[in-house]
Amino acid sequence: MDKNGDLRSCNLEELTEVAAELGEKPFRGRQLFEWVHGKQVRSFDEMTNLSLSFRQKLAENFQVSGVREVAKQVSAGGDTAKYLFALPDGHVIESVWMKYRHGNSVCISSQVGCRMGCTFCASTLTGLERNLTAGEMLSQVYEIQRETGERVSHVIVMGMGEPLDNYDNLLKFIRLLSEQKGIGISQRNITVSTCGLTEQMRRLMEEHLQITLAVSLHAPNDAIRRETMPVANKYSIEEIFQACREYFETTGRRITFEYSMIRGINDREEHARELAERCKGLNCHINLIPLNEVKERNCLRSEASDIEKFKIMLEKYGRNVTIRREMGSDIDAACGQLRKQFLNQTDKKPEEVKL
Ligand code: SAH
Repeated sequence: MDKNGDLRSCNLEELTEVAAELGEKPFRGRQLFEWVHGKQVRSFDEMTNLSLSFRQKLAENFQVSGVREVAKQVSAGGDTAKYLFALPDGHVIESVWMKYRHGNSVCISSQVGCRMGCTFCASTLTGLERNLTAGEMLSQVYEIQRETGERVSHVIVMGMGEPLDNYDNLLKFIRLLSEQKGIGISQRNITVSTCGLTEQMRRLMEEHLQITLAVSLHAPNDAIRRETMPVANKYSIEEIFQACREYFETTGRRITFEYSMIRGINDREEHARELAERCKGLNCHINLIPLNEVKERNCLRSEASDIEKFKIMLEKYGRNVTIRREMGSDIDAACGQLRKQFLNQTDKKPEEVKL
């Protein structure tokens, strides 16, 4: 049972225990599941097929806590929206909604802050505050689907935080998210992004999930990687590639490499060549991300022409590569900036702040 008594973090087994604890029959657990994860209700009052006394007992002992919208920015084209959500304890996180031709994607946060310390990223500026619970990760998806009134078909765990640094909650989240009787998002439509924690990558492959694993590489060798990613001092690129090869062999799922293009650091054609060589024989896809400049950091975005040359070089070697389409660039201050703006007004509570 979740220590905070949040029913959104509970699976069917735990909800059945909740029902039993309150003197109800086991099938009430299934009904609870249907309300909490199938219909994604936010209050006990909405659970109309449960007796009033059961609902009262639930309300006395548990919550369906969720997240509360503090601010929302919509792009001019209307195809991207960024949400700032408050958690029950007052922390704030960001989530992004993106409308594509193939469906609607939600990018969620997995931690409040992050302790990985990448030098180009806004999410690590305040360090790690705490992990998100499975319920808090789910709530970002549930609230956005409710608020937009449109079905969410894809979920990417690429917002604030290092998901594999919050492993158990992440796993529970993925299982609940892909539960048929819950919101029912196919595992094939779920992507988890990691900075390359190889022990957890190995643990993850043993779960035999159908999700896509994205690995943030951002460099073709350890020397360059260590300039921007402190985690590179712990795990070498060779170790990461070994874990990726095993991941593919175990799950049959192609790896995605993320490569944020930083001017003068990792964007030369020789870097592309080195990267192409490394990827030889591995079933992978490389996603080039034009860096979002963070004003507190001094990394700059590569020139568009250099990004294009980098892509062409990778293609010459036969690698699968795309340049990430920039969506809603008018609101696309780097991920983590909306929260930063909020935190700069620290004396205020979420409800008082206008962004
Ligand atoms: N901790 C996870 C998820 C982080 S965010 C990870 O490291 O993969 C998802 C991706 O965005 C990562 O590849 C991350 O390195 C990248 N990223 C972070 N800040 C960025 C920025 N300012 N511009 C471009 N990409 C960025």
